[in-house]
Amino acid sequence: MSAAALESRYTLPVYPQLDFEPLRGEGAWLIDKQDRRVLDLYGGHAVAALGYDHAGLIDSVRTQLEQLPFQSNAVAMQVRGDAAKALVQLAPAHLTQAFFVNSGAEANENALRLAFLAGANHKRRIVAVSHAFHGRTAAASAVTWGSDKRWFAFPQTPFEVSYVERNAVDQVDAAFDDDVAAVIFEPVQGVAGAYDLSIEFMQALAGAARRVDALVIADEVQSGMGRSGKPFAFEWAGIDADIVTAAKSLGGGIPCGALLSTQRIADICQFGDLGTTFGGGPLASAAIRTVCEAITEHDLCANAAAREEQIRETCVTGPVSAVQGRGLLIGLRTAVPAKRVRNALLNDNILTGTSADPHIIRLLPPLTIGSADIERLASTLANLSLES
Ligand code: PLP
Repeated sequence: MSAAALESRYTLPVYPQLDFEPLRGEGAWLIDKQDRRVLDLYGGHAVAALGYDHAGLIDSVRTQLEQLPFQSNAVAMQVRGDAAKALVQLAPAHLTQAFFVNSGAEANENALRLAFLAGANHKRRIVAVSHAFHGRTAAASAVTWGSDKRWFAFPQTPFEVSYVERNAVDQVDAAFDDDVAAVIFEPVQGVAGAYDLSIEFMQALAGAARRVDALVIADEVQSGMGRSGKPFAFEWAGIDADIVTAAKSLGGGIPCGALLSTQRIADICQFGDLGTTFGGGPLASAAIRTVCEAITEHDLCANAAAREEQIRETCVTGPVSAVQGRGLLIGLRTAVPAKRVRNALLNDNILTGTSADPHIIRLLPPLTIGSADIERLASTLANLSLES
């Protein structure tokens, strides 16, 4: 039985899948049973930050697995403390504490909970941005654009939500009053199609939030961990987010999530306010520390910025008419439906992703990809056969 047949027999039918079954990885390459090699410019939805065979990541997780695979937050562990320290050191200085969870949605769920705790339950509303995606748990999906029409599924949202249109600076002030506990936004909207929010828009959101004593939550689940060319993409706007969420690249493939907060938020937290069994587990912690250190040691922010420039210079070719996004969270605008381009690229052994925008191909490659990989993409696009 093929993997596809096996999964379709034994798992819920909620994922459309590609016609490729990877077995192992080398750098940014995926290899199947027949030794077919595919260049992965999608990185498992931005997860494989260091590629697939990073010696340091393998070594740190294996060492921890052999030493002690699990203990919960009931006991302090050096490896967890080291991971928190490495993440805090990667982030801007005003973010002083971390809280570890298991996924992006869970990080956002807790960020939103903290916003209401900070508002001492006097506040009722969250401001979000049109076209945003924040995850599939109750609170995260409540602030996800359009989820009510498709898959929210719960009878009601846990709080009131209002949306400001993406990049509509003139709409921002009217969306905020004393009722607002927080604004949440992705500095580069990932699922939407790598739409980078304008600097002015992010500054307007942060300014309006400050005026009504609401928190600023930057969802950096997709855009964070060096991907934008800075450790976190909100830094491009020169604003201070109160809470920043991370996941995906955070563990380089080991499932995990985190939020970072200011000291002011830490000061309102009491025992029991937040909690998780697996969050901050030793394997994830070992991975988080290694990824944070690798971002700094290998200057992966600079590589993301350089590869972005190369993509902008060389990849507007073949079916691609424009490039958007930041760093290595890139959208390629395609004249024909993006799915056709994605399928044709896969035929030519390059894996890319689609997005909510039917004319955007999304690139979320390992932060370690080199210029030869982008050259391959550019020449494949230039010669792409879109027939069939
Ligand atoms: N936030 C953003 C910006 C995301 O892109 C995603 C996932 O795509 C999430 C949150 C949810 O993350 P997870 O799937 O790990 O729950």
